[in-house]
Amino acid sequence: MNILTKLPDGLLNLKANELHQMLNDHTLIHLQGIIDRPLFISLLQHGNETTGWEALKVFLNNYIGKLPRSLIIYFGNLEAARYNLRLLDGQPDFNRCWPGQYQIKNETAMQLAKITQAVQSMNPFASIDIHNNTGRNPHYAGINKLTPQFINLASLFSDTIIHFTSPDGIQSGAFASFCPSVTIECGMTGTADGLEQTITFLNNLIHLPNLNDVPGVAEHQEVLNIFSTVKIKPDIPFTIAEETPNAQFVIEKDLDRHNFHMLPKGTPFGYLVQGYQEMPLIVTDQIGQDITDHYFDIQNQSVILKQNVMPAMITQSERAIKLDCLCYLMRPFKREHKSEQFLRKTS
Ligand SMILES: [Zn+2]
Repeated sequence: MNILTKLPDGLLNLKANELHQMLNDHTLIHLQGIIDRPLFISLLQHGNETTGWEALKVFLNNYIGKLPRSLIIYFGNLEAARYNLRLLDGQPDFNRCWPGQYQIKNETAMQLAKITQAVQSMNPFASIDIHNNTGRNPHYAGINKLTPQFINLASLFSDTIIHFTSPDGIQSGAFASFCPSVTIECGMTGTADGLEQTITFLNNLIHLPNLNDVPGVAEHQEVLNIFSTVKIKPDIPFTIAEETPNAQFVIEKDLDRHNFHMLPKGTPFGYLVQGYQEMPLIVTDQIGQDITDHYFDIQNQSVILKQNVMPAMITQSERAIKLDCLCYLMRPFKREHKSEQFLRKTS
C-alpha cells in the first residue's frame, strides 16, 4: 500500500486527468495537522467526477503548512481520470468494491480492504467521499446511518440528505462501521456552485472539534430514504428522447428534471416502440427483490408510474445507465418507524 506523508511537489498544479503522472490508483496521502485525529477524504473513485479534486486543491492551497486537523486523502481511479471516464473497460466500479455485506474477490477489493483496515487503525474523525452526477440534481449528502453525528456531518454540506443502505461495497458504507461518513454529490462535473459548496463544506468541517452538536440541525433535518433502484433490463435496447432503429424503449426527454420532486402516479418515464410489450424497467428493493410491479405499468405503450414517488439521480447518460442504473426511488423517512422492515411492508 502506498502512503505518502507529504504532497509531491507540483501536485496541486495538476488537473484530475494529469494526476496519474505522479500518483498511482489507490494512493493515500497523510498530511499532519494541529489536531492529530484525521479527516478522511476520498476522491475520484469515478474518474470523470472531478469536483472533489478541484475543491481540495483550493482548500489545500489555503491551509498548506497549517492544517487545523490531519487529513488522509484517498485517490481513486486515476487511470480512468486520465481519460475523463467513470471507469475503464474491464475495470470494476471502485465504489462497489469496499468491504461490505458481500465478499467481492478482485484485485481492487483486496486493495480497498487493506486501505480500510489501515485507515480504521488511525481512528478517523469523519469520512467524506466526493462525487458528481450526470443528471440535474440538487447537491445532496448521502448517509448510511441515521445517528445524530451522521446527520450533522451531512447537514454541513446540504439540507438535502438521503439515507441509503445499498448498493453494497461503497466507501461511505464501509467506513460507517467505525466513523461518521458521508457521500457528497456536488452536481454535474465542472459546475461552479458545486465546487464552491464543497470548498465551504471542507472549510467548515476542518475546524469542528466534534460532530455531536452542530447547532440546531439534527432534530429538524428531513431525511429521504432510498428504498429501491431502477434499472433498464440489460437485454432491452433503449435510447433517450428520440427513437432509433434498434430501440425498444425510448426514455422521456429531460427526465432528469424530475429529480427530487414528488411525482404523481401516471407520470411517464418513456414509451415502448410499436410492436414491443415487455416492461423495460426493473425495480429492486434494498435486498434485491423485484418490486417492479408495484411501481411501473404500461398503458398505451407508455411506461408510467403506478404510484406517487420521488426519484433521485435520474441520469441522461446512456453509459451511466448501462454501467449503473437509471435512477433511485425515495420517500421521506418516517422517524417514528425507523426499521427497513416497515418501509418494505408499505411499499
Ligand atoms: Zn460517483
